[in-house]
Amino acid sequence: MGRYGHDARPLAGGQSLIPLLKLRLANPAVVVDLNGIPGLSYVRQEKDRLAIGALTCHSDIEDSEIIRARYAAIGDAVRHIGDAQVRNLGTIGGSLVHGDPSGDWGAVLLALGGEVRCLGPNGERFIQGSDFFTDMYETARQPAEIVTEVRICSPRPSAGGAYLKLERRSGDFALVGVAVYLVLDENDVCTEAGIGLSGVGPTYVKGMAAERILRGTRLSEAAIQEAARCLDAAMDPYSDTRAPAEYKRAMAKVFFHKALELACRRAATRDS
Ligand SMILES: Cc1cc2nc3c(=O)[nH]c(=O)nc-3n(C[C@H](O)[C@H](O)[C@H](O)COP(=O)(O)OP(=O)(O)OC[C@H]3O[C@@H](n4cnc5c(N)ncnc54)[C@H](O)[C@@H]3O)c2cc1C
Repeated sequence: MGRYGHDARPLAGGQSLIPLLKLRLANPAVVVDLNGIPGLSYVRQEKDRLAIGALTCHSDIEDSEIIRARYAAIGDAVRHIGDAQVRNLGTIGGSLVHGDPSGDWGAVLLALGGEVRCLGPNGERFIQGSDFFTDMYETARQPAEIVTEVRICSPRPSAGGAYLKLERRSGDFALVGVAVYLVLDENDVCTEAGIGLSGVGPTYVKGMAAERILRGTRLSEAAIQEAARCLDAAMDPYSDTRAPAEYKRAMAKVFFHKALELACRRAATRDS
């Protein structure tokens, strides 16, 4: 990878790279198969965080007891990725590096405040999800780096999370996807909020202004409306064959309300 730089493309599950090669949208001199590298496929609960190896396929995440027990937003997202065949081959690392703004993992990573671990000729570094996605199909990963792990802080007590996706048909990429993470204290005051959107811009959107509005409130209707207005300002959807931009914008706000409601209900039962 170091020798070939931009001319080398790592191969994980091949679910995005192989179509790109077939369509001649990517034409690397060298394809580096990562599948021979041991130890990059796992879902682990570490002391205060969840660690997922970059080569972990979607279906292994879907089947993980750790995810089922504590990470509801991740469980919601993974169930809706493509179909069983795609989930058996596609990996979380490949998905994030591919950087498709209609993918599902990016929104969840942004809502849960996760980070991406990269390894390259200059050593190891960690990139916050909010710094990782730089543009459509572009990330902060350097050409000679591989992603080795995705890390997410363990949820606090009374945290709730949810990911909801609007798709035209089952298995499609998101028309819009909304991930929400909340922590409520004993008085139902929101002490932490994370929001990530997919399908509403050239890259995933982190609803930073909306998160700030929700923090410190009891999630009153007025605060939620104000947060939705902030999300509206942060989105930049485009019209395509699937839907006009205005429809995506409207649906993202509807799905934000629904995801928030579900996350609140789950916070009451400690299901983040
Ligand atoms: C029919 C179909 C439906 C799909 N539906 C959805 C969906 O609903 N939601 C969704 O989110 N996704 C969907 N996908 C995409 C799927 O999630 C892929 O798994 C994902 O985009 C790419 O993962 P991969 O492991 O196959 O990566 P690959 O295709 O092998 O690689 C993708 C890109 O990432 C790079 N790369 C891969 N791994 C690494 C690494 N560890 N470090 C550095 N670079 C790396 C490659 O060089 C390439 O540029 C769908 C795909 C298909 C074919």
